[in-house]
Amino acid sequence: MADLGNPKNTIAILNKYKFVFQKKFGQNFLIDNHVLDKIVRAAEITKDDFVLEIGPGIGTLTQHLCENAREVVAIEIDKMLIPILSDTLSDYSNVTVLNEDVLKVDLNTLVQERNGGKPIKVVANLPYYITTPIIMALFEQHIPLDNVTVMVQKEVADRMQSGPGSKDYGALSLAVQYYAEPYIAAYVPPNCFMPRPKVGSAVIRLTLHKEPVVKVKDEALLFRLIRASFNQRRKTLVNGLKNSNELNFSKEEIINALKAEGLSENIRGEVLTLEQFTALANRLFDNVKNE
Ligand code: SAM
Repeated sequence: MADLGNPKNTIAILNKYKFVFQKKFGQNFLIDNHVLDKIVRAAEITKDDFVLEIGPGIGTLTQHLCENAREVVAIEIDKMLIPILSDTLSDYSNVTVLNEDVLKVDLNTLVQERNGGKPIKVVANLPYYITTPIIMALFEQHIPLDNVTVMVQKEVADRMQSGPGSKDYGALSLAVQYYAEPYIAAYVPPNCFMPRPKVGSAVIRLTLHKEPVVKVKDEALLFRLIRASFNQRRKTLVNGLKNSNELNFSKEEIINALKAEGLSENIRGEVLTLEQFTALANRLFDNVKNE
């Protein structure tokens, strides 16, 4: 089968099937073999691996995954791409394509049935309109995962890997780092895609923590706290938490919890580490329980 990392071959396939790009599905297909190799290397794929690809498009990255992994399942929402994938992946017997919306698939059952519940790798050049929901769904549903290696918008990759004090630090950084260790493997310019996106992109690998890095008593409360802290970035943490309609703490309760953690009542959320947010959440949790 023709190498789709070569733009000429991609154009030939698109013409053969008279494919029309669907903007609503975030379709920007890769046309650069260096980038494809980088993704596969960053994901550390071996012949032992079961890989889930989200959004295979015309199968460009899928071909590389089939070459390197034991088994690949690719979930593609656009039914117009299914006959194309049958064609471009016809050389491989280790791939299954599912015509589904990945957000509606029961991935835990899929991993159970196809990989005996053992951790899988997820690889994708993600549709940018739903990057965060897809990544958070993988984490929050506790899918058994080794790592998730994805192409995302450059700014999103920067936000995922930044720490306290950086302008990029926020709820997404903390949510991602709670579950995984981020590593940006490459920045990728628009000319590596067809059609060219308006934004720069990056390949980021998220390696799941084997053991939790913090011990939280109430995970939902921790994330409500984090969201409230960054909802009103310019306000102090006390005001951010007090104004949140997801939380129900008085100003006094919040100030007391901050003091007990050795933090100033004028502090802003953007300087707190994940450990500090966790300690604060645990403190507020204990206080409410003991009331
Ligand atoms: N992997 C291909 C590549 O690198 O050339 C295509 C990547 S393109 C950025 C994103 C792909 O995800 C498209 O094929 C699009 O149709 C598909 N997609 C968009 N939303 C999806 C969803 N909710 N579930 C599954 N696939 C989706």
